[in-house]
Amino acid sequence: MKVVAQWGDLADGVLVGRRVSREQALDILTTPDSELLGLLQAAFDVRRRFFGTRVRIHVLVNARSGNCSEDCHFCSQSASSNTEIDRYPMMSADALVDDARRAHEARAWKYCIVTAMRAPDVRVIETICDAVRRIRQRYPMMICCSLGLLTPSQAGSLKEAGVDRFNHNLETSERFFPRICTTHTYADRVRTLRTAKEAGLSICSGGILGMGETDDDIVDLAMSLRDLDADSIPVNLLNPVPGTPLDSQNALTPQRCLKALALFRFVNPDKDIRVAGGREVNLRHLQPLSLYAANSIFAGGYLTTGGLPASDVHRMIEDLGFEIEEVRE
Ligand code: SF4
Repeated sequence: MKVVAQWGDLADGVLVGRRVSREQALDILTTPDSELLGLLQAAFDVRRRFFGTRVRIHVLVNARSGNCSEDCHFCSQSASSNTEIDRYPMMSADALVDDARRAHEARAWKYCIVTAMRAPDVRVIETICDAVRRIRQRYPMMICCSLGLLTPSQAGSLKEAGVDRFNHNLETSERFFPRICTTHTYADRVRTLRTAKEAGLSICSGGILGMGETDDDIVDLAMSLRDLDADSIPVNLLNPVPGTPLDSQNALTPQRCLKALALFRFVNPDKDIRVAGGREVNLRHLQPLSLYAANSIFAGGYLTTGGLPASDVHRMIEDLGFEIEEVRE
């Protein structure tokens, strides 16, 4: 039964601090496609309160690619996937500093350094810290790292080097997680997020939609991220890559993606909600609509798959009448 009569009323409630209930969250996901514009308008009202029409651009670098010991079923970088990807060891600090120029030129609000691994070793942490210190001296960008499971002393080193944020996605609900990964647990992931937060790092955590999860799983993910007070929430949309266990999964429509983004906005109203990996293949021509709910976006492709170049992302933002958010030092 529908408990939300008017999406505008839901937005008004959220804007005076009321929390979205599980029933309301499920209503968002199951609303008919014919009501999508009203839902997006309401999500935009919430987005506008906290972020105006500003859009934060994020640029990724895959600092160590492939051969990961873990078995996340969606991931082409797992050693158990048969996908043809470029595999290479940890980039040097010099190479990372050089690559940061690409992010700066893309007008990135945040440069996201990602390594495919279960957990970093001493050498990885030293390389990242060296690179981050130098990037901070050159470019006015926030820096996020995604390095797998983290210890408290590693988190402290990253913070001390100038890392702003640490990413570790919950990926899905606690209930569904064992169906997509068997080499580590949901609890391991939550522990890493708490470790990062305790070290004073801002936390980035989101998930992937379209892996065979239920509506309840998506609602659980959005609410778990609210409970963890994640500052930044990347909402990935499965791009089923050949050679991974999920390569025949394809359940998303553009409308469902937009409803899910609205859901994450209503449940986490003042957080950095990002329309993330898989945007181009799942939203297709409806990509611009995602920015009515999300306030941030990736430009220039993903870890192992391509995406819209930064110039096209800039044009999309301009065409919407929105503006690129600059980092204030
Ligand atoms: S830990 Fe990261 S890189 Fe490794 S398989 Fe999982 S998602 Fe891929």
